[in-house]
Parts: sequence; structure tokens; C-alpha cells
Amino acid sequence: LQAALRARPEFQLRPGRHPGSLTTRTRARLALESDIRKGLERDEFYLLYQPQVDAQSGRIVGVEALIRWRHPEHGIVSPANFIPVAEESGLIVPMGEWVLKEACSQVRRWQQRGVHPPRVAVNISARQLRSTNFLDNVAATIAMTGIVPDLLELELTESILMDPEARQVQGLYRLQQLGVHFSIDDFGTGYSSLSYIKRFPIGMLKIDQSFVRGLPDSVNDAGIATAVIAMAHNMQLEVIAEGVETLAQLEFLRQAKCPKVQGYLFSRPVTAGDVEILLRAGQIDLPATTAID
Ligand code: C2E
Ligand code: MG
Ligand code: MG
Repeated sequence: LQAALRARPEFQLRPGRHPGSLTTRTRARLALESDIRKGLERDEFYLLYQPQVDAQSGRIVGVEALIRWRHPEHGIVSPANFIPVAEESGLIVPMGEWVLKEACSQVRRWQQRGVHPPRVAVNISARQLRSTNFLDNVAATIAMTGIVPDLLELELTESILMDPEARQVQGLYRLQQLGVHFSIDDFGTGYSSLSYIKRFPIGMLKIDQSFVRGLPDSVNDAGIATAVIAMAHNMQLEVIAEGVETLAQLEFLRQAKCPKVQGYLFSRPVTAGDVEILLRAGQIDLPATTAID
């Protein structure tokens, strides 16, 4: 019997794993999954918003909604620590629906409080986009909250767009017809076949922060950033640089004619109340840089 069991890989003993028990990693993942489920029920998630600004004037042209989790024991948890598990388990679907509803409701609240709301960008994950009721849910959320669809932007990643189903592509075009905008997040880090730019209703490229980080000194990063900005201009797409932290980076991007910027240099992700204060001020005071022609 021992020999027979040894021949069957599922019965072999591996470190940290015994027949009938789970690996430590699986256990941790399941615990996290159950915590996320409870967190959704108990309203432990909330959104922060990071301003996107006009690189020349500092005017706020949009905000990106970024999810946070106030965990009862672990405190504030960043999305990097739970989005992957939410994806794997499918919980990203209800979570994503909540994010969309909350972001659209917030646009409405800003309007009701008499501030001119910026366009709000919402991150959409692969599994969420593939879920059968995605299109209907977005349309229903817009209808329910009564926001102008032009105020909503959905951020997709290159990998999401790699092997789309016809149904999905049609869905995105239908949302575009309603007035919804689409951008490519983390542009340049994915599979970058670029053919998706023709096949999807993409309006904006977001230059990934990994390319912004090396500006202006890294020849590679400078080349990539300049090329993406030029490509966007040539294809009549909008373009924004993410993760702008220093004046030197801003200066490079201004000279390279990058119209929009987002990053800690202007504002960290902040609460809806803080966004309102910034909106009432009208713009974020940008540090002056030299020679803008
Ligand atoms: P992302 O969509 O690319 O968002 C940008 C991330 O960069 C955010 O991290 C933001 O806080 C951070 N960031 C902004 N400016 C700077 C800067 O100047 N320097 C540096 N070092 N970082 C900066 P965050 O909020 O931790 O989100 C991480 C990722 O989690 C997001 O990347 C996005 O992929 C995902 N995520 C966040 N919220 C959601 C959501 O509601 N749904 C989904 N599906 N994913 C989300
Ligand atoms: Mg994003
Ligand atoms: Mg990004």
C-alpha cells in the first residue's frame, strides 16, 4: 500500500503539506477570501480619489478612484494585498460593482454639493470585464445614480484586452456610445501588441509609473515616455503620466508635451471631502518649471 501511495503524486508528502490538510499558503488565502467576503458585507471598503491634473495649469481634469480596506484587525490594507485574491475567488465581481456604484454616487454627491465634478476613473479587473452582466451593470449604475456618462472613465489593462470575446468588444462600444470613456492603465508594461488600440474604443493611454520613475536621466525611460506621448498625439489619443513625484519629472513631461499628469507631486489619493476642497480651489498650484513653449 505504501508503495502504491508513493506512486500517486496527490498522496506524496511535501513540506508543509499532509494528506487531508492544506498548505499554509492555501489556508492564508482562504482566510483572506473569507475576510474579504465579510468585509464586503460589513462595509469595510472605501474609496480614495487621486487628482489628475493639466500639466500646464494644474487644473483638476479628473480623479482616479482607488479602493482601500479598513480591516478590523489589520488596519488599512492596500489593494495590492487583496485584489489578486479577490480576482482568483471571483469576489472582484461584487467588489467591482460596489466600487463603480460608490464612485458614481460620489460624482452625484459632489454635484449636489455644488461643485463641478471631475471625470472619475474606475479600475476594472479582467474577471470583472468578463463577467456576463458587466455591461448591464455599468449601464444600470449610470442610470441609477443619474450621472452624465461622460463623467465616467473605465481603466483597463493591456492583458485584459489580449483575447477578447466578440460580446465583450461590442459591450465596450455600447458603453462608449452612451458616453463612457476608456483608458489603458499601466501602458507599456503588458503584452503591448498594440492591435487592441484599433479594436477597442480606447481614448487615453496612462504611461506606467515604472517609466516615469527614471525620468529625466534614464535614456530608456525618457525614450519610452517620449515615444508613447508622440504615439498618442499621432493617434489622437489622450495621454497621462502616472506616478509623477519630482519637479524634474514634471519638467521633462511638460517639455515632451504630455498634457496630463498624476502623482504624489500634486496629490496623494485623498478622501472625497478633500477632493471637494481641491475642486473649490479650482486647481492645484504647480511648482513653476522653466521654459514651457
Ligand atoms: P493603478 O490603477 O495603476 O493605480 C496607481 C497606483 O499608484 C495607486 O496605488 C496610487 O496610490 C499609486 N500612486 C499614485 N501616485 C503615485 C506616486 O507619485 N508614486 C508612487 N510610488 N505611487 C503612486 P494603490 O492605490 O495602492 O493601487 C494599486 C493598484 O491596485 C492600482 O494600480 C490598481 O491596479 C489596483 N486597484 C486599486 N483600486 C482598485 C479598484 O477599485 N478595482 C480594481 N480592480 N483594482 C484596483
Ligand atoms: Mg489605475
Ligand atoms: Mg497604473
